[in-house]
Amino acid sequence: MTEDQTRLADSTNTPKNAADAPPADSLDLKEYTGKYRYGSASYQKTVERRKSRSIKIGPVLIGGGFPIAVQSMTTTDTRDVEATVRQIESLEAEGCEIVRVSVLNMDAAEKLGEIKKRINIPLVADIHFRYKLALEAIAQGVHKVRLNPGNIGARHKVEAVCSAAKDAGIPIRIGVNSGSLPRDLLIKYGHDDPEAFALAAMRQIEILEDHNFHNIAISVKSTNVNTSYYAYKILATMTDYPFHVGITEAGTSWPGSIKSAAGIGAILMQGLGDTIRVSLATDPVEEVKVGKRILRSLELKHEGVDIIACPTCGRCQIDMIPLAEEVERRTAHFKSPLKAAVMGCVVNGPGEAMAADIGIAGGDGIGLLFKKGKVVGEVKEHELADLLVSEIAKMTGEAVAEDDPLYDILGAPPLTHTTDTPPLTDKSGAPPLTNITGAPRLTENPGAPPLGVGSVGPSSEKGARPLQAGSHPAPETKDPRIHKITSGKNRLEGNTSGRGGVLKSEHPDWLPDSAKK
Ligand code: SF4
Repeated sequence: MTEDQTRLADSTNTPKNAADAPPADSLDLKEYTGKYRYGSASYQKTVERRKSRSIKIGPVLIGGGFPIAVQSMTTTDTRDVEATVRQIESLEAEGCEIVRVSVLNMDAAEKLGEIKKRINIPLVADIHFRYKLALEAIAQGVHKVRLNPGNIGARHKVEAVCSAAKDAGIPIRIGVNSGSLPRDLLIKYGHDDPEAFALAAMRQIEILEDHNFHNIAISVKSTNVNTSYYAYKILATMTDYPFHVGITEAGTSWPGSIKSAAGIGAILMQGLGDTIRVSLATDPVEEVKVGKRILRSLELKHEGVDIIACPTCGRCQIDMIPLAEEVERRTAHFKSPLKAAVMGCVVNGPGEAMAADIGIAGGDGIGLLFKKGKVVGEVKEHELADLLVSEIAKMTGEAVAEDDPLYDILGAPPLTHTTDTPPLTDKSGAPPLTNITGAPRLTENPGAPPLGVGSVGPSSEKGARPLQAGSHPAPETKDPRIHKITSGKNRLEGNTSGRGGVLKSEHPDWLPDSAKK
């Protein structure tokens, strides 16, 4: 057996061909998911993450169970400090947590210190072949270097880089992709084989370890989702260094986002991944948006307003899709986690959106407002968007955007109004909105519970308060736009959560079969 064969034999139980695979009915799915088994009634909803080592990239810790960081890479010429800083600021504003810049030559390397001083997220230098660029980048104070030690030549060069990185206390990320596979592995395994990726990464790791360097992150990115998926799975059995996960060169914005979501999502669901980069042929800000959305979809990041929206069908009698889009757009900058549902009808709306903190279900020209699955009143269709936005602002304690139609009414932040605040009216002359929150005003309620998880009150000086998804209270609202359900085609009584609730309608044909009995 060669060294590579021994590594693989020791590490992977991936069947090499169909004949080696166990019969389907004897499969223990634990191998694949960590928890699930055939026939099991219990499910683990959250991803069980691989136990990796933690490393520090500036102030950001990855691995060891720390939150998965979203990173991106600039597309500017690094020598152009202004353009590079501007792009990094856009990435930061979108929530990028680590940024990488390419270091093409010494001029670019010498600009890294200046760039670092002007940004607020860790800076990573991307270097190929020339070890002196790595030494200069480290001297300039970067927080991590991405290079493959096998590409920089003589042992003394690798030693110099390892020793400089060690002195600076910064990690090195090894990045294996299709283009960097060693020739012998390419000949043996072919162009896009996951075992070859894992073995190539192990060879690079061993070079660094040979220099007693262990502050390492690794990526094994192919542009092929299956290759990447299995490469990370195999590599996870060989080492505990943290993983930088991505699907390289995923493509242009729309197909690339979907490919990245499929690939990165599948890998993360295996519990693999400590930082991610979505690789798109478009503005890198899109990479950050997609990366954050992937993490939020997998519930690996609890941040922002999630809009649960039904696809609509023939039962929907309001213009629901533009409403969902509008609420999503107007609350996109909110940081506190909250689930808001915009559902087309009352037949399935509240029941399907049980997990939502707040939502509406469309009726005929109205929307039923529900909180925690319980209907609290009905609202005219033309008032739904503003009402939802103001309620979400209230529940999160965050301010609407300055260009939002409600900004003049709610101000910023929304819960700082006191009894001294003069009555507010909206532009349509609707009733005053001073009681919109229905919550006790702070000056009147010194005994209110302290702010914290799940509490409602004014924003802290630093902005959004930490709130956990599903933890938002649902106080009785006195908003004058919310009416008792007394008229209209559909009437809901009692617990309308969809679980044991009583659903009545003047138009029984409109109700689900279960409610007609
Ligand atoms: S919630 Fe109502 S309108 Fe929306 S898809 Fe379901 S049944 Fe149709």
